Amino acid sequence: MRVGLTGGQALGALVKGAIPGTCPSCGRASMFRSWLDLYDRCPSCGLTYAVESGAWIGAVVVGYGIGALFVFLLTFIELFAHPIRSVGLDPIWTIVVAGVVVTVLAYRPSKGLWFALLWVYGFTQDEGGVPPGGY
Ligand SMILES: [Zn+2]
Repeated sequence: MRVGLTGGQALGALVKGAIPGTCPSCGRASMFRSWLDLYDRCPSCGLTYAVESGAWIGAVVVGYGIGALFVFLLTFIELFAHPIRSVGLDPIWTIVVAGVVVTVLAYRPSKGLWFALLWVYGFTQDEGGVPPGGY
């Protein structure tokens, strides 16, 4: 974790990065230039979000994880309470479609959460700072 960062500050940066999508370092500007596209640097503090070229892949993994967790939870709820079958829908197709929708909707918060996580663990680059790895 970043030097001098408390657990509460780290949690706050992760929540603000995930839900409104604000910069984890300054909290003053959005990380997103459009619905899904990030700025290269924070327009307010100059933090470089993606220092490595494949940094966004972690956001995809987090998004799929959220979608998979939703599908597991919905499956267990259907197995024990049958809410989908009781309204006359096919449980398997309903769960598949709902899982895809949740995965797509979770992508932006996942991306914000992932880049906030990279900031918390020092894998971003402050303006004028040295990149992780120290060259
Ligand atoms: Zn910033």
